[in-house]
Amino acid sequence: MQSEGPAQPSGVEHSPTRQTVVTQRSANLIILASCVAVAGVLFKADVFTPSGVTPTIGYCIVPLLAAQTGRRSFIVGMTGLCTVLTWVVFFLELPGAPAWMSAFERSMVTGVLWFSFVLVCQRMNALSALARQAEVLAELNRELSRSNQELDAFASVASHDIRGPLATTGMFASLLASRLVGKIDPDCGEWLSLIQSEVRRMHSIVENLLKYSRFDTDRSGIEECECEAILANVLDNLRADLIASGAEVIHDPLPRVTSDPVQLMVLFQNLIGNAIKYRSEAWPKIYLSVAAEQEGWKFSVQDNGIGIDLADRERIFDLFQRGQGSHTAKGSGIGLATCKKIAELHGGRIWVESALGNGSTFYFTIAKAKKNERAKSVTA
Ligand code: ADP
Repeated sequence: MQSEGPAQPSGVEHSPTRQTVVTQRSANLIILASCVAVAGVLFKADVFTPSGVTPTIGYCIVPLLAAQTGRRSFIVGMTGLCTVLTWVVFFLELPGAPAWMSAFERSMVTGVLWFSFVLVCQRMNALSALARQAEVLAELNRELSRSNQELDAFASVASHDIRGPLATTGMFASLLASRLVGKIDPDCGEWLSLIQSEVRRMHSIVENLLKYSRFDTDRSGIEECECEAILANVLDNLRADLIASGAEVIHDPLPRVTSDPVQLMVLFQNLIGNAIKYRSEAWPKIYLSVAAEQEGWKFSVQDNGIGIDLADRERIFDLFQRGQGSHTAKGSGIGLATCKKIAELHGGRIWVESALGNGSTFYFTIAKAKKNERAKSVTA
């Protein structure tokens, strides 16, 4: 018997263990015995049926059984055997129906038998194509997560390395500024303070980038946490901005969720911070709500700020992308990309609904997951 298994994906090595080979062989032997037994019983039934070939239709089961071995040559052999048995009985059958009728019926049975052979082969082809595709997809996934990890590691190392020279530049700019007080003309003084403020801005970009890249690798913090407590922390951190802008924050009773509290805090802080930052002429009013859904929790942060242009509503979630209305406020376009990453790490997503000039509502979901389930999935 020719040894041809189902097609294996190219480039993927399978090295079955000795035990797997032995188990497969025994399974094939059992299938072979079943095929022969079925064919034998049907053959006898056909010989002893006085007229007609009704039992032979049962031969169609044989290619189906043989397909379980995954060996095409075996299926051909078994289908051929059934065909031969069908026609052998033509010469052995008991007198009854006219010979032409028997020949006609046996031709029909042979046709159906080979038709089922063709169907079985097509199914096998489809299954092996599917297996190949699944393998390619899994390989692509592995490749993607490897390159994501490399990218994050690179961002992390680059951010670390940039912070040193940046701190030195900032320090010497401050030294220069303090030494030269009153000795330089106002233009030079302004340029110096511009350098200092740009250094601070760069420092904050690097810090945010570092935070962004860390979220993928630092996955130890999944636990039961109180959103009320997280929000209280966030409002504490934003106290100065809240007071300066006169913003009012109201919220629904918030649930206890399974998540990384630090990441959730960053998420809330970015969204509420942006609601203050991108305010309109009116006093900022921010409303935080939450709804339980079958799959998890759906949070929303609604503001009455400047709103977001339709063209910006998707791209603002990408790294370093800022919206058209952002020129009035300082920023680097990392906040929402971080929020997106956090929502996705929690099995959810983030999106925004907005009317330009009429405020925005940011929605994000997090999946309900048991503590160790999520921990398992994030470390996988
Ligand atoms: P940054 O605020 O540093 O620019 P973000 O990633 O937090 O970066 O936000 C990206 C852009 O999305 C912002 O530049 C701004 O145009 C827009 N945006 C975010 N939040 C709001 C909001 N609440 N109202 C209006 N625009 C917003």
